[in-house]
Amino acid sequence: MRPDILNPLFAETDSLDGVGPKLKKPLEKLRLTRLRDVAYHLPERFVMRRSVTDLDEASEGEQIVIALTPIEHRSSGTGRGPYRVLAQDAKGNICALTWFGKASYTAKKQLPVGEKRWVAGRLDRYGDMLQMVHPDHISPDSAGLAGNLMEPVFRLAEGLTQPRMAGMVAQALERAPDLAEWIEPGLLGKMKLPSWRDALMLAHRSDHPQARDRLAYDELFANALALMLVRQANRKRRGQALKGDGSRRDLLQLPFPLTGAQKRSLAEIEGDMAQDTPMLRLLQGDVGAGKTVVALEAMLMAVEAGAQAALLAPTEILARQHYDTLRKLAAPTGVEIAILTGRDKGRARESVLMGLVDGSIDIVVGTHSIFQDTVSYRNLGLVVIDEQHRFGVSQRLLLTQKGRVTPHTLAMTATPIPRTLVLAQYGEMDVSRLDEMPPGRQPIDTRVVSATRMEDVVAGVERHLSSGQQAYWVCPMVRDNEVDDTAAAEARYAALKHRFGDAVELLHGQLPPERKDAAMARFAAGEARLLVATTVIEVGVDVPTSTLMVIEQAERFGLAQLHQLRGRVGRGSGKSTCLLLRGDELSETGRARLALMRETQDGFRLAEEDLALRGGGELLGTRQSGDEAFNIATLEQVTRLLETANDDARLLVERDGGLESPRGQAARTLLYLLERDWGVTLLRGG
Ligand code: ADP
Ligand code: MG
Repeated sequence: MRPDILNPLFAETDSLDGVGPKLKKPLEKLRLTRLRDVAYHLPERFVMRRSVTDLDEASEGEQIVIALTPIEHRSSGTGRGPYRVLAQDAKGNICALTWFGKASYTAKKQLPVGEKRWVAGRLDRYGDMLQMVHPDHISPDSAGLAGNLMEPVFRLAEGLTQPRMAGMVAQALERAPDLAEWIEPGLLGKMKLPSWRDALMLAHRSDHPQARDRLAYDELFANALALMLVRQANRKRRGQALKGDGSRRDLLQLPFPLTGAQKRSLAEIEGDMAQDTPMLRLLQGDVGAGKTVVALEAMLMAVEAGAQAALLAPTEILARQHYDTLRKLAAPTGVEIAILTGRDKGRARESVLMGLVDGSIDIVVGTHSIFQDTVSYRNLGLVVIDEQHRFGVSQRLLLTQKGRVTPHTLAMTATPIPRTLVLAQYGEMDVSRLDEMPPGRQPIDTRVVSATRMEDVVAGVERHLSSGQQAYWVCPMVRDNEVDDTAAAEARYAALKHRFGDAVELLHGQLPPERKDAAMARFAAGEARLLVATTVIEVGVDVPTSTLMVIEQAERFGLAQLHQLRGRVGRGSGKSTCLLLRGDELSETGRARLALMRETQDGFRLAEEDLALRGGGELLGTRQSGDEAFNIATLEQVTRLLETANDDARLLVERDGGLESPRGQAARTLLYLLERDWGVTLLRGG
């Protein structure tokens, strides 16, 4: 149970003064649902604001505070253009305060003609007039605005303003309790870190490196600690030793020899499964490295030893595809394979459920529904989780809690995580790495093309299609907004359908399941030849005859994601091409990243370089790669602080594995605070 002291921080945002249902929405968009989230919503940066007595004193582009008196309101006739309030300073200089859209309502109320107001904002020029667009603050008195000010700038969503956000943050901080220290005292002194509560306050007040480091460190420490507790708990669990006799594997007729890396990984898996401590192993291998066959052989080992195996896929599409692939590959072995997803209903479902209970089904492939309470197994011995990064640790844990004995777990991921980060994300597991590609892969010809050449690109696609080949068209990713992803894909689909007619199919997350299946099926069968899609095709989709991929607004994607997308082509023997369409306003880093995509196809190298290019500042995770290990720590902080955090966590677990000491108790609180409480829950069972 969460310690009572944290309760105020876990209250919903509408318990803040002035927050009702209307503000809750934009807050949710920023993923701020509880006071804890608001307190941790750290400023993106700070601006220095200078207080000036008149406009002559200020320069363009400067953030200022100034007293102005409105002299005239001007709305455009149609009501659609900007809304301007002309205002003058003490010397009679005129400045326009400008609003676009609905925001003008505030202007009308807050700037009555003839009444002096304190206005804060960025001074700009519009034609030959000085102006401030959407001033940050307007106040009838100078209190809090006068003087030189350091002001936080928060990430916002529509419907929120900086002052609003600052107000909510201040309220949330007020309710933050003092918490007992969980960082080892010696370390705390050496790193000169403030206490947790002070760090939160300081990080909101100014650019304070130690405060930021403290908060980041907490996250890294909590993460490491929770993963170590998982590992510790796993060691105490009872599993079953599964020793296959090779009888099923011998019957396989693979059309290729296994690579050295595949053999090595299988030997490691075989070694783990022969122990009665449950296996917790991660199989890390670039897109196309051949993880599926490894999974199949591991599952056959379990079957040979008299147990069942389950393969969990992150999406319906992938589950069906795995089911088809495995059935074909495993046909000569005589094992019984079934599929079970949320969509399988009625009699078919009943029959699969029966088969799992009575043991007539050896291997089941499905989405998370294979682990629902209604599903029981005769003897589940191995769980394989594909495209691991779509599942968090807490989900991984739930999966393995089926059955009296804990099944062995093999997680698979194609996300090329830099070595330094593997521990942070999968610290509870042992790692096998497929660092060798099957032979004979053709390099993918990758080109960066300006989006202004759209016509040429479409013509190129046309030539490609009329030569009888297939292609993917990936639509831009809109940050944090699935719905807009869909809109972009729909629009592009309409345009391309106009040109190519029935040869085009559409695939995005919002389509009803039957339509998704139908689209995939038509594309896989070669009836549809161009698949317009959002990133839903990112993982696993395998149509070897599709040899061209166009990615719109490629600069918006993370490198890892581009790499995964590109991995959809180059799967057959034909030559493949990937066109990265870029917008005109490309940052230096953006340019370098796309160039890197052109240069290499080595996922691990991409990951390492991406880390170096992004450097500090940018958050790890969000939609970069689907990994959400850290919300607070930046990449730079992870690189710098991770090792210490790991060591500190390891020491604590060694000394006080039950987290009973005062410091252990404090660490428990931290795990709840940062929502790694699955780590704590494990303690109870021992
Ligand atoms: P991923 O690791 O991305 O899941 P897959 O398992 O889908 O990769 O394998 C990609 C392709 O490579 C498949 O068509 C598979 O049959 C093929 N493949 C796997 N192992 C080998 C191998 N040792 N030699 C040749 N081709 C292989
Ligand atoms: Mg795969």
